[in-house]
Amino acid sequence: MNEVITRFAPSPTGLLHIGHAWSAILSHDRAKEIGGRFLLRIEDIDGTRSRPDFVEAILRDLAWLGLEWDGPVLFQAERLGLYARAIDRLKALGLLYPCFCTRAEIAASLSAPHGDARPLYPGTCRHLAPDLRDRRLAGEQHAWRLDMARALDLLSPAAEEMPEQLRHDGKLIWHDDIVGDVVATPEMHGDVILARKDAPASYHLAVTVDDAAQGVTHVVRGRDLFAATHVHRLLQALLGLPTPVYRHHALLADETGERLAKRNKAPTLQAMREAGIDGRALADDLRAGHLPIGFRLSEV
Ligand code: GLU
Repeated sequence: MNEVITRFAPSPTGLLHIGHAWSAILSHDRAKEIGGRFLLRIEDIDGTRSRPDFVEAILRDLAWLGLEWDGPVLFQAERLGLYARAIDRLKALGLLYPCFCTRAEIAASLSAPHGDARPLYPGTCRHLAPDLRDRRLAGEQHAWRLDMARALDLLSPAAEEMPEQLRHDGKLIWHDDIVGDVVATPEMHGDVILARKDAPASYHLAVTVDDAAQGVTHVVRGRDLFAATHVHRLLQALLGLPTPVYRHHALLADETGERLAKRNKAPTLQAMREAGIDGRALADDLRAGHLPIGFRLSEV
């Protein structure tokens, strides 16, 4: 079997908490228990929210937990050219269109309440007349969206002319270690943004390009990103990239069952570190399934 390569890919937009530690340990051990490699990637394409002090804290937290990564740390902010090339490739396939909408405009054009589900982009900019589109492109900030229907048509087994470079066998399937084979349904996300107004890539694009570029064979990450994998699988097919195996693990929750998030009051690893807690012992407890008092695995 080929070498197993996993990664931990935090965004330095806040301090890590014990849920991140859990995810990093699972990813690290998945590779290390069979002599593979564990990589660290800092997902800092969001220039307005990413901060160097959070990067610093991540590196210290991982060292405190006893997790060593292989090779240099990869920073997404240094790889924007790579994402721009992927965007160009999708443009050349005729799959992207510029979107000028503001968040407020999108919200206003959606009338029905959508409960918890994020509403889908209503497609306002998809059918702009070419001359108007060109004029606005020249003078207005814009994002680039994937024309989802067109992308799926292109990959459909019935497509008359599937471009040769697409690595695709007619099926959009990915394997999750926990739930088994999953048929990707990226249409549930609508016309996702692949390049943002303020950055030449979105999370979906950068993560897919980098997992392939770094040779990641197993993506271990939280269940909150399960749905995103439908989009990543589609992008792999469109960009001719291999599909890793996935493992979307359960998330940690507090005693009320509420999932830990960076912004709520979950104690940060930095605070635990500074309080003198032994990080390696904490990591071993987590490995043994002993969660600190007040934490449990989320049911959802
Ligand atoms: N950067 C993402 C986050 O901090 C995780 C990306 C991933 O694991 O795919 O939530």
